[in-house]
Amino acid sequence: MTPSTITQVEAIVTKPDKHNLVVVRVTTDAGVWGLGCATFQFRPWAVRSAVDDYLRPLLLGRDANDIEDLWHVMRMSSYWRNGPVLNNAIAGVDMALWDVKGKLAGMPLYQLLGGRSRTAIPAYAHAVADDLDGLYTQIDRHLADGYRHVRVQLGFYGGNATDLQVPENPLPGSYYDPRQYAATTLRLFKAVRDRYGDDIELLHDVHERLNPSDAIRFAKECEPFGLYFLEDVLPLEQTAWYEKLRAQTSTPIATGELFNNPKEWEELVVRRQIDFLRIHVSQIGGITPALKVAHFADAMGIRLAWHTPSDITPVGLAVNAHLNVHLHNASVQENLDVQPNTAAVFAGYPVQSRGFLRPSDEPGIGVSFDVDAAAEFPGVFKEHPWTTSRTADGTLVTP
Ligand code: MG
Repeated sequence: MTPSTITQVEAIVTKPDKHNLVVVRVTTDAGVWGLGCATFQFRPWAVRSAVDDYLRPLLLGRDANDIEDLWHVMRMSSYWRNGPVLNNAIAGVDMALWDVKGKLAGMPLYQLLGGRSRTAIPAYAHAVADDLDGLYTQIDRHLADGYRHVRVQLGFYGGNATDLQVPENPLPGSYYDPRQYAATTLRLFKAVRDRYGDDIELLHDVHERLNPSDAIRFAKECEPFGLYFLEDVLPLEQTAWYEKLRAQTSTPIATGELFNNPKEWEELVVRRQIDFLRIHVSQIGGITPALKVAHFADAMGIRLAWHTPSDITPVGLAVNAHLNVHLHNASVQENLDVQPNTAAVFAGYPVQSRGFLRPSDEPGIGVSFDVDAAAEFPGVFKEHPWTTSRTADGTLVTP
């Protein structure tokens, strides 16, 4: 096979709308370039440095065809591995190399991976509002747009606490009440089922806001409402509790967006303690490891619902759609509308239709990137106060 030599590797930080996004572009002497998503919106410049200062020197002059070897070279080159900064950096390059390979082969990524398992992947939309009337308006809009899967949340993660009694001079932070959150959410599920019936799929994200015993009780109390899945009912640090959770409830359990290291999902998958893996593809190092964990989960009867939040690029959105159309155990894809400025920077990403997403048939990932347009939206330092979440007494919890 003719080598396709890597001539440039660069990471670009841009903030077209709400979030800082990180894009990696790999150029080859074959006249073909590829794009990857390396977005870690909490540490974007650390990822850019990892790509430009540490991965670029490893990659220049190497054959872009050798994705598997290059992935291992990148991962081992830091000796200490599996952290979010380095995994995102590796993922940006990895996706760009798959994009290059698809363009050289003249095939869309999902064909390069082995072709279709399905026509298109069902998409789910977010409905979030401070009260039920606001939530109904959003659900109505999503149903009218064609969605049949909707994630429902009242207020921000953990809910909007009312009449929260806190000590004098409280520590700064984002306060919530776990008990109030659980009760309000159960009322929300009942109200939505009463209004819309059983024909729509409901999803919900606890976002780690309950302690383990309350989480188990909450998951059991969700059973009458037939959720499609209940997400992150426990924090990453407490995954050993999933065995007890599994033994006590039939509510389908999803987790995984925080995973970095294969050891974090190995036991959960082998022991069938969850139903859906919500892995964030760039957070584990890209398409190359995503294929491996997908096949591992498939053998155990566990489905995939790749994390696809608003803080990934349209390249990441497209990669997930390619994976989801190809992989037999893919189940549903989170979808958020690409905002106007972001749409001016990227083109060719999948757009929801009739409640489904389907990837482009252009060679590679199929998404283009306008460098000049991105330069009009430079990255901006941004604080994330919601990561300082506290219960009433001021105790900091996992966000
Ligand atoms: Mg989540």
